[in-house]
Amino acid sequence: MRRLNIALILSLSLLSVASAFSASLPGVSSNEIILNFPESATFQATITSDVEITSVVLEYGNEQQTCGEVIAKAFPQFTPGKTVNVEWTWEMRQSGSLPPGAQLWWRWRIIDANGGETVTETKTATWLDDIHNWRSMDNGDYLRLHWYEGDPTFASDLANAAYNGLQFNETNSGLKADAPIDIYIYASTDDLKEAILYEPSWTGGQAFPDQNIVILGISTTDLDWGRDAMVHELTHVLVGHLTFSCLGDVPTWLNEGLAVYSEGELDQGSQRQLEDAIRDDTLLTIRSLSSGFSEVSDKAYLSYSESYSVTKFLIETYGQDKMTSLLVSLRDGLTIDVALQQTYGFGVDNLEDAWRRAIGAQPRPVPAQPTAQPTPTFVPTIVPVSGEALPIQSTPGPIPTSSFSTPTSEMPVRGGPPLSLTLILLALCCFFILFIGMLVLGFIVRNQNLRKSKNDQQSSSS
Ligand SMILES: [Zn+2]
Repeated sequence: MRRLNIALILSLSLLSVASAFSASLPGVSSNEIILNFPESATFQATITSDVEITSVVLEYGNEQQTCGEVIAKAFPQFTPGKTVNVEWTWEMRQSGSLPPGAQLWWRWRIIDANGGETVTETKTATWLDDIHNWRSMDNGDYLRLHWYEGDPTFASDLANAAYNGLQFNETNSGLKADAPIDIYIYASTDDLKEAILYEPSWTGGQAFPDQNIVILGISTTDLDWGRDAMVHELTHVLVGHLTFSCLGDVPTWLNEGLAVYSEGELDQGSQRQLEDAIRDDTLLTIRSLSSGFSEVSDKAYLSYSESYSVTKFLIETYGQDKMTSLLVSLRDGLTIDVALQQTYGFGVDNLEDAWRRAIGAQPRPVPAQPTAQPTPTFVPTIVPVSGEALPIQSTPGPIPTSSFSTPTSEMPVRGGPPLSLTLILLALCCFFILFIGMLVLGFIVRNQNLRKSKNDQQSSSS
């Protein structure tokens, strides 16, 4: 489901160019983009016309699914004349980082002194570094794997895992790919970090459903982890596509549950943790997993395992058709309670009751206020793999222009309330209390001294 805007842009361009034919058509030479990955992209052009050029506007963006079409515009500085050089730099630190492999597009809108307007043809470029020797491999119609380290066997192993992941999702969860997905394999997490601004902590992978991109840091010695992580992130792209709309939202437990489910069975560590939580009656409620996971790593791992368990329960008890209906209802803007009710005949609480019964857990704790909403928590993005603690991942910051992308599936985690700040505040409080204490003490001592000296004066005068 690639956007139609390129077609729209092209037809707009043709219209504008056609309308300008009656006037003298400006010529554009050296119309290019210079990538300074991952910092900036500079657009440059030299425009020549018979009539003085008075206005040049750069229209640009990146190809992605958006809610409505918003075109970013920039107004490069130039001296009006018959030949002008224009240049404008897109600073990614200001707009928000784009994922490697994003497709950039741009065109120039030129107005001359007679009011004639021309729009140049739209050009595109791939936002990617040139320090790695990228190679590409297709697998089926929907997968393009890009990698630079490791032999073709390494790449085809991952490409096959990705292919199997797509098949699994289609068969078991009803999630289908509808456009080619580009997977960029960095040779390490460090390499991956360098490709993204804002220095987030990474699990080693992230999905960008709006752009059909998955990026991962997989070393040649880390294939087992890599296969699972890739399928996990690919599933987020599929979920993002099926549920894309400007209305709906998929609860975290369902999005992550589908992603972990696509990896296959839970790893032993996660399975054990889940069983412990069932036995000790320390399961988290499904509602508390709706808008983010805890940033405490134990809780985060349990959140993933529980999400997996609930999703597996839904799919394996009621079938994948119903799962697809549920996701479509969410896309159409229904709340999770209403979407569940419409699809399965029960809401979140009754789902939890049924799921707890099915896995042999204690009944759901009934809150004092039944309608209380869970406090939104930060969303960690741990890919639960092989029970080993992984760093928590975060997304780049908010992106101001709506034509730019936000990675939707791998989730932001803030660094947590810093311990140092708490300690400083505590120390300030102690200091303040001490200070007040000393003031009071000083006041009392002074009063006593005054009284004493008064008494002394009285006794000496008497
Ligand atoms: Zn995930």
